[in-house]
Order: sequence, then structure tokens, then C-alpha cells
Amino acid sequence: MTSDHRPATMPPIPPREQVEGLVAASSRVHGHLCPGQVIGVRMAILGLGLLGYACPLTYPEIKNVLGVVEVERCLADAVATASGLRFGRGSLKLINLGLLAATFGDLSSGRAVRILSREDARERALDYAPQAGDLRAAQTDAYVIMPNAELFDAAWVELNIPAHEMPGARPDKVACQQCGVLVRSGQARRKNGRTICPVCAGQAYFSLGQNLEL
Ligand SMILES: [Zn+2]
Ligand SMILES: [Zn+2]
Repeated sequence: MTSDHRPATMPPIPPREQVEGLVAASSRVHGHLCPGQVIGVRMAILGLGLLGYACPLTYPEIKNVLGVVEVERCLADAVATASGLRFGRGSLKLINLGLLAATFGDLSSGRAVRILSREDARERALDYAPQAGDLRAAQTDAYVIMPNAELFDAAWVELNIPAHEMPGARPDKVACQQCGVLVRSGQARRKNGRTICPVCAGQAYFSLGQNLEL
């Protein structure tokens, strides 16, 4: 497949109105204004921009893009709100590596770019917002105006996400041969020649207690 969206050269700093508008929107969704909101917004603008897309994505371009966030909490909300990508639509994934990073992939060209937050941006924030009352406030202000190169490292990457977890994949539902539950999203496991659900395979995130009478 080909794409009209060629990697673009990004200005070192995105327009302030764009950043502030998206930060206001994501802070409303997230519940507070924090440095993570600004970092997530800047990541989304940069990542999508490097793929040749505007931020936020609009229809139908949004169907071409997959986002991955590598940490929960503040950053994930900001990337979702700013980019327009959604967990519920399969266009945004949380792969929790505990890293302040996000990847944006162009499904039509196969290109993907990973944006990693630079740790030394924290101290540099004070240079950009010396008037701020504390480090957190300085970060929130400074991350709006700091150049991309001081906030992030970026690299082209190749996504190693299984086909059944890519947007648009519709794997067949499979019945667990142990408990009978229907397994979606290609998450069935094979064990001793049987197809079973992740819970029966002992790969759940919980230990089962007593059943309730409803
Ligand atoms: Zn937050
Ligand atoms: Zn089962």
C-alpha cells in the first residue's frame, strides 16, 4: 500500500495555541493539569507530525494510525485526548513497559516512530520557566515551549505487534475447552493439546475467590 503521508520535517516547537488548546482539553478529561498532560500532548503532536498527520487526527485519517503508550496514568490520557486515538476503538494500545514513551504507526505506509521522554528535560524546565513556584509548575509551563529535541528522543521503529492485535483485526471467538467461556481478540491459549482461556491457563491477573449468587 502507498500513502500520501510522507514523513514531515517538524518545526522545533509546535504552535503555542495548538499545545495549549490540547492541554486544556486533555486536562479536562484527565481531571487535572500536570506535566504529564503537556508531555503527552507534545508527544502526540510530534509523533503524528513526523508521520505527516495533523494532531488531533480527523476522520478518515484516524483509521490509518495506531498509537501505543508505554505507561499508564497521566501520559496515556493526554496522548489519547490529543491524538484522537482511542483504546475503545483499538487504535490506541497500552503496552505497559513503565516508560514515558509512545509510538505512532502509519498503517498505510508501515512506518512507525517512537517518542521517548528525556529525563534531563526536568531540570531544564527551570531554565524555561524560572518564575514558576515549584518544579512541577515549572515543568507544566516549560514543556509547552521547550524544543522537541530537549523534550524527546525519537526513533523510527518496526512494530512487532501480532496481527490479531492490530486495529481492524477480527479474530474468531473460540470456546474454552475447559470452562466454556468464549475467548475474543485471539487470546485463547494452547495447553496439552487443548484450547483454553487465559484464566484456565493460569495467566489471569487475579486469583479466583468464591462465586456470588446474583
Ligand atoms: Zn496527571
Ligand atoms: Zn476457561
